[in-house]
Amino acid sequence: MSLVVQKFGGSSVADAESVKRVARRIVEYRKAGHDVVVVVSAMGDFTDDLIDLANQISPLPPARELDMLLTAGERISMAVLAMAIANLGFEAQSFTGSQAGMITDESFGRARIVNVTPMRVKEALENGNIAIVAGFQGVSHATKNITTLGRGGSDTTAVALAASLDADVCEIYTDVDGVFTADPRIVPTARRINHLSYEEMLEMAASGAKILHLRAVEYARQYDVPLHVRSSFSHNRGTWVSDSPIPPTFAPEEEETSMEQAVISGVAHDRQEAKLTVVGVPDIPGKAAEIFRVIAENEINIDMIVQNISTRDPGRTDISFTLPMTDGATATRVLNDVQESIGFDHLRYDDQIGKLSVVGAGMRSHPGVTATLFNALSEAHINIDMISTSEIRISVVTRADLLDAAVKAAHTAYGLDSDSNEAIVYGGTGR
Ligand code: ASP
Ligand code: MG
Repeated sequence: MSLVVQKFGGSSVADAESVKRVARRIVEYRKAGHDVVVVVSAMGDFTDDLIDLANQISPLPPARELDMLLTAGERISMAVLAMAIANLGFEAQSFTGSQAGMITDESFGRARIVNVTPMRVKEALENGNIAIVAGFQGVSHATKNITTLGRGGSDTTAVALAASLDADVCEIYTDVDGVFTADPRIVPTARRINHLSYEEMLEMAASGAKILHLRAVEYARQYDVPLHVRSSFSHNRGTWVSDSPIPPTFAPEEEETSMEQAVISGVAHDRQEAKLTVVGVPDIPGKAAEIFRVIAENEINIDMIVQNISTRDPGRTDISFTLPMTDGATATRVLNDVQESIGFDHLRYDDQIGKLSVVGAGMRSHPGVTATLFNALSEAHINIDMISTSEIRISVVTRADLLDAAVKAAHTAYGLDSDSNEAIVYGGTGR
């Protein structure tokens, strides 16, 4: 008997009708003889609505209570989904994250899973039930407080459960037909990608492709959980993410051909970053270390770094880096606090930037990939502000208002455009 974990995102369970549709889909798998564990997100934009509510009550809600509040969204969807399944004549039991054994550390709002002990889920399966688990939540091992895994964290719940239960596949249901070569909302000629390695998917997710939670991909790679990202609105094959061949039970129609590696798999973009420049840093050893120590102590993840000798003062340098916009205020404050001891001149903050990344494992063995990108951007009259690369990724920062044009230009330059507009966005508000 095979075991499948299915995760349904908020746009797949946005209202009562969608919940019933998803229930039918789950039951199809049960009827086909699979054991099924389902992970659900909150209905539609309910999590955002709860955050709005909290902010109307308090400008700075206590983290413990905010997590308690947000976990309510998934409790609603898991219970109504279980009801919809019962209505179809199948038995389903819903479990909160804590009941399902999602044990986390104690950091509210971005808890990490430290252990998964899904005894009750296993029991439910043994009794022939469908188990439904609330996504994105857990319980702290040390404090017994309820925690959340961070926005979009239901993917991680699903992958962690799949790993712990040794599932054959973890299906991630969303409102598009899989992972596309670019966001179909920007590039209508984007194509669905058949198969990605974990490494490629990691780079795409880290570069702003919102289709999968970054931590979920890290988890999948670590425990070798095959992912199938697909739409809950169609029965089309989606995108497989794995380093091994696809299990035949779940993809009977799989072509044998797809082993030849594309040079570029896709173009990702990110509008959530800002650039902070520390102007006039004394050009002596230890200054960069001081700056980034302060940033790290405040748990701010930075991305690209560029250092330039100041044109005005040769004894000084300017250090720029990108960081999530949401950390902009903190970074500015903590650096200003140490301005005197580090001895820099001032800070310059810019949140009107966009980041474009091209990702592809074939990049390793193909020269000229960078030149193609820079050519395409120059022909589109788009100025490059910062550059960073990994073995299989090139990222550039542009002005925010030019980002869409940059994504389109890169997509075309690498020959990724399809002749038909096959990319359909079925649902979601894009919120
Ligand atoms: N409902 C949560 C959110 O909107 C978790 C998730 O959707 O994965 O972030
Ligand atoms: Mg959501």
